[in-house]
Amino acid sequence: MRSVSIFGATGSIGENTVDLIARAPQDFRVVALTGGRNIARLAEQARVLNAEIAVTAHDELLGPLREALAGSGVQAAAGAQAIAEAADRPADWTMSAIVGAAGLVPGLRTVARGGTLALANKESLVCAGPLLMTEARANAATILPVDSEHSAIFQALTGEDMGTVERIILTASGGALRDWPLERLAQATVAEALAHPNWAMGQRITIDSASMFNKAMEVIETREFFGIAPDRIEVIIHPESLVHSLVGFRDGALMAHLGAPDMRHAIGYALHWPDRRHLPVARLDLAQVATLTFRAPDLVRYPALRLAREVMAAGGLAGAAFTAAKEIALDHFIDGRIGFMAMAEVVEATLDAISRDCGLGNAPDSLEAVLEMDNLARQTAQGIARARAG
Ligand code: NAD
Ligand code: MG
Repeated sequence: MRSVSIFGATGSIGENTVDLIARAPQDFRVVALTGGRNIARLAEQARVLNAEIAVTAHDELLGPLREALAGSGVQAAAGAQAIAEAADRPADWTMSAIVGAAGLVPGLRTVARGGTLALANKESLVCAGPLLMTEARANAATILPVDSEHSAIFQALTGEDMGTVERIILTASGGALRDWPLERLAQATVAEALAHPNWAMGQRITIDSASMFNKAMEVIETREFFGIAPDRIEVIIHPESLVHSLVGFRDGALMAHLGAPDMRHAIGYALHWPDRRHLPVARLDLAQVATLTFRAPDLVRYPALRLAREVMAAGGLAGAAFTAAKEIALDHFIDGRIGFMAMAEVVEATLDAISRDCGLGNAPDSLEAVLEMDNLARQTAQGIARARAG
């Protein structure tokens, strides 16, 4: 029996993780579950999985959470500090599925106690890759990727020597707007950006998929997780989303990972690693699929991909500034205050302003430095986005 904790249990990745665990209750003992405002769902998950403790991120929701858990024997706690402390509780396996920079703290605390961290929260690697990876190495912790692309790469690398890897190719669906004429993109609405062709995901990541900010983060995530040079990471548009990514070796071989677009594959792989168990995902019928198509991404259409290269070249805290500025730009787009293409402009102007004023190159060597940059970039991006919105 393995003990598990899920940070961000009520989100899209969290629900899929709960689903897999609930199918095999005899195999798991649940330690901590955390969520946000959806107290009813968090309490329901905690009851079904018989968790030790349920934690909401919001202090003021402690009362309602306690009430919802009354008589269940599950402890209740609230606030950022309680989430951090929940990560200190021993668990064999921990899912990091909080969205945004808030996911960094429980991830760091998990690797600090030498735990196994299943990492969906890509922001931790983009903001603080060196910090998280160094802390993991120092404490003999294991990090398993959960982003579908990185799980695919990780699987293709099983038994291989990183020294023989020539390149990593990340596939991208191209998002909801990939076939739109370039000149219409600036007018795209939130609803249009949300019509993702293949993956059912949360609202923010779906828009990030249309703008390719998601892929830009994944390029940086690839660099940090696999320690590969930026010029060896490629992005290819693959509208069918069936090839989840590829690894190219020095003998010319390309190893691809294929499967149905269902996050339960990557989550389940990390949950059972190093075993492979039966997973409830659809099987691909290749005769029915018939064709797989690929095309090179256009950097004018997807400026986020160009910005990812600049962020990697700048190094240091540029990733933290990039993520924070992207979150603010996305808020403004979702609220209808700036256009779709203006998101990248806001991010680029934020990076330029910070790099001019105080530089981005300092190493992200402490949590405080990362959070300080996150804060500075949010404020800078707010000012820039407001000025643009008029
Ligand atoms: P989501 O918005 O559906 O869920 C986020 C979870 O985090 C919720 O439980 C929410 O309550 C919690 N949360 C939000 N803000 C918080 C805060 N400040 N403090 C504590 N908890 C907070 O997000 P998601 O789509 O499940 O994505 C989670 C992470 O996984 C993200 O980093 C995302 O990039 C990554 N990811 C998601 C997918 C996907 O298919 N959804 C795929 C790959 C990677
Ligand atoms: Mg992904």
